[in-house]
Amino acid sequence: MTAHSSASAERSASPFRFELRARACPVCDANDSRPFAEANLDPLALNAFAFAARKLPEYMHHALVVCRSCDLLYANPAPDSASLEAAYLDAAFAASDESRYAAATYAGFLPAIAAKLPDRDGALDIGTGDGAFLAQLQAHGFTQVVGVEPSAAPIAAAKPEIRALIRHAPFRRADFAPHSLRLVSCFQTIEHVYDPLALCRDALSLLRPGGALFLVCHNRRGLSARIMGARSPIFDLQHLQLFSPHSVRALLARAGFSRIEVRALVNRYPIAYWARLSPIPAAIKPRALELLRKSGLGRFTLAAPVGNLAAIAFK
Ligand SMILES: [Zn+2]
Repeated sequence: MTAHSSASAERSASPFRFELRARACPVCDANDSRPFAEANLDPLALNAFAFAARKLPEYMHHALVVCRSCDLLYANPAPDSASLEAAYLDAAFAASDESRYAAATYAGFLPAIAAKLPDRDGALDIGTGDGAFLAQLQAHGFTQVVGVEPSAAPIAAAKPEIRALIRHAPFRRADFAPHSLRLVSCFQTIEHVYDPLALCRDALSLLRPGGALFLVCHNRRGLSARIMGARSPIFDLQHLQLFSPHSVRALLARAGFSRIEVRALVNRYPIAYWARLSPIPAAIKPRALELLRKSGLGRFTLAAPVGNLAAIAFK
């Protein structure tokens, strides 16, 4: 094993290994980047949690560069699609409460989006996790609601009536009829895929004219990323690219979408969640989290514009 070509880890289940591939900018295809950060990768510290929605150990990431053309920050080299699918298949899931809070936050955009759609017939949520957003789609009047999720654990955690709506698979255009959807949503997932432009183009092909793509992703130029610098949790192994308002707009435009809107997102989460993501030193973090849990304080919610973007675009 060499650090540049592959990495592997012993886990309780089975070891995984990924191949790293050099790539051009996955948004604009330019080969004009400047270094942002060296790889910070300890193969021995990797475990099943490294590919879960929230995971320890933290702060590991691939070598990161910034595209001079479109402002995308991306991993180069990055693990290829096949390696990623294998890794996510077995990823642990430990974020049920958080997914519910996140889904409620994202659903705050649905009335405004739905008002611009010709109808609400056909909605797909990519990377749906335990399907918390599928329930929100139904509550907002969407029909023919379906989710795709590559990891088994979050699907197992889904409510039975929601689980029936989730396909255990990575997103593949061929699994859906062209021009069959009115809304495609994809939250905190566009950073994780090897080819984000292909995902957006595929979503476009599945939408009927007038349909919308609704993305939520981290804003690498957001306040928290600027304050926390290299300690920001957005720099992690799972994130193969990180967007800014400029680069997410470039992504959607290049994919063929129009009427692109990019807005800041205000997240509401329990305090325990904020604490878990905070740069508290690893030596005392478990004790701090335990204290929040025992005191009950960790269950109070707090809203903050932590640096997520909502991007909505139409076909
Ligand atoms: Zn670029």
